[in-house]
Parts: sequence; structure tokens; C-alpha cells
Amino acid sequence: MSLLKIENLNVNYGGIQAVSDLNMHIEQGELVTLIGANGAGKTTTLKTITGLVKPKSGTLLYQDQDIRKTEVHKFVSQGLVMVPEGRGIFPKLTVVENLDMGAFYRKDKAQIQADIEYVMTLFPRLKERAKQLAGTLSGGEQQMVAMGRAILSKPKLLLLDEPSMGLAPIIVQQIFDIIQTVHKEGVTILLVEQNAKLALQISNRGYVMESGKITMADKADVLLNDPRILSAYLGG
Ligand code: ATP
Repeated sequence: MSLLKIENLNVNYGGIQAVSDLNMHIEQGELVTLIGANGAGKTTTLKTITGLVKPKSGTLLYQDQDIRKTEVHKFVSQGLVMVPEGRGIFPKLTVVENLDMGAFYRKDKAQIQADIEYVMTLFPRLKERAKQLAGTLSGGEQQMVAMGRAILSKPKLLLLDEPSMGLAPIIVQQIFDIIQTVHKEGVTILLVEQNAKLALQISNRGYVMESGKITMADKADVLLNDPRILSAYLGG
């Protein structure tokens, strides 16, 4: 059983077909990257998985269940958690309050505090800024809060939309290190990235999306060495 299985997915915005006949599967424990140029349909794919955008047709199975009619607010409690592009943190709440929001659906209250401490060890910067309003943090720190909040919700499948967007290279490296750590601890991840090289280097498999269609799908190391990927996405 695939953790996530997408078959023949089509998504339209009015007359624009943003996703065409998309097929994708993610197995338990995998880290899978979806790469593609601006406007290829990557964000639309993630939004469709999490119910924010309704597909025109196709199958969406999560843990073998049809999720096309699942209400958006139910996904987090089912372990399907998205960190959106632009992060979606609560600017008027502190760092710790933001992290705590991630645990909103959890009942194991005693464990939550331990998990907040764990996130602070992953991101020592957040420990220093625990009481600071999240809206006053730098872009990289906000990304850390968004990821930390997602970790607090104990995801089974974590969808990350361009986590490196707009960040300095040193922060990008830290974010990718954390993605690897979270993956090694057992979270299955679908990573959407423009930073194709770094993303594929930490991934098991990758998909390439162009104009709404999947044009390549392979093991990450195969894609990293493919001349078409090299010239189009890796600056080679
Ligand atoms: P980027 O990396 O630039 O975010 P993307 O691969 O995530 O790109 P999408 O954001 O999914 O691409 O957009 C796919 C296509 O759908 C684009 O042509 C975009 O203009 C269009 N689109 C996205 N959102 C909407 C919307 N709400 N209404 C109309 N068209 C949209």
C-alpha cells in the first residue's frame, strides 16, 4: 500500500489546466522531490492533495482512503500536514505559541512539551527567540517555525512547498539538514523545490513537472545525472 497514491489527476482554474493527468505515488518512509519551473503546477498539486483546491477528475488515496471529500481541517489530525509556500505562521503569536498550535489536535499533552523542547534542539535559534513574536523573525527563522509547528503535529506525510524560497545559502543548508533529520526519524516527505540539486541530493526519488504534466520520474541519483535535468534544472 502506498502512503499516497494519485491517479490521472486533473485540476483546472477556469480555463487554465494547471495539472494534467498526473500520476504519483509516495511510499511509507520515502523522501520524494517534485521539481519544475515556475508555474509548472507544483503548488497546485500540493493544494489539491490537502483539499485546498478541488480536482476536476482523478483519484487521491491517502492510506488507501479516498481523500477528495475530506474536510480541510481534518488532514492534520490524520497526519497529512503541509508547510505552505510563504510559511503561514501566526505573526502575532510567539515562537512557542506557534509551535504549540501545531499540537492542537494532539491529546498526549505530556509529550507536547517534550516535543517543543525537541524542536528547539533541532533549531537552537528558536530557543533563543522562544518569546519573540513570529512576525518579527527573519525569513529563515519563520521557515524554522513553520517546520517546527509541522513537526509538533506529528505528521505521517509532510508536504513542504519550497522551504528554501528566499533564504540565504547558509540557512538553506540548515533547512535541508533538518528535512533530512525529520526524514530519518521516520516522517515521509514530499518536497517541492526550485533548488533541484540540493533537493535531489537528499531524496530517494524525484518527479519532474512541466506545464502541468509529469515528464520524468526516477530515482533521485538517476535524475541528478540525467543530462536533460542537468541543463534544465541544475545549471549544468
Ligand atoms: P511556482 O513555483 O511559481 O509557485 P508552481 O509550479 O507551484 O509554480 P502553480 O502555482 O501550481 O505552479 O501554478 C500552476 C498554474 O496555475 C500557473 O499557470 C498559475 O498561473 C495557475 N494558477 C495558480 N493558482 C491559480 C488561481 N488561484 N487562479 C488561476 N490560476 C492559477
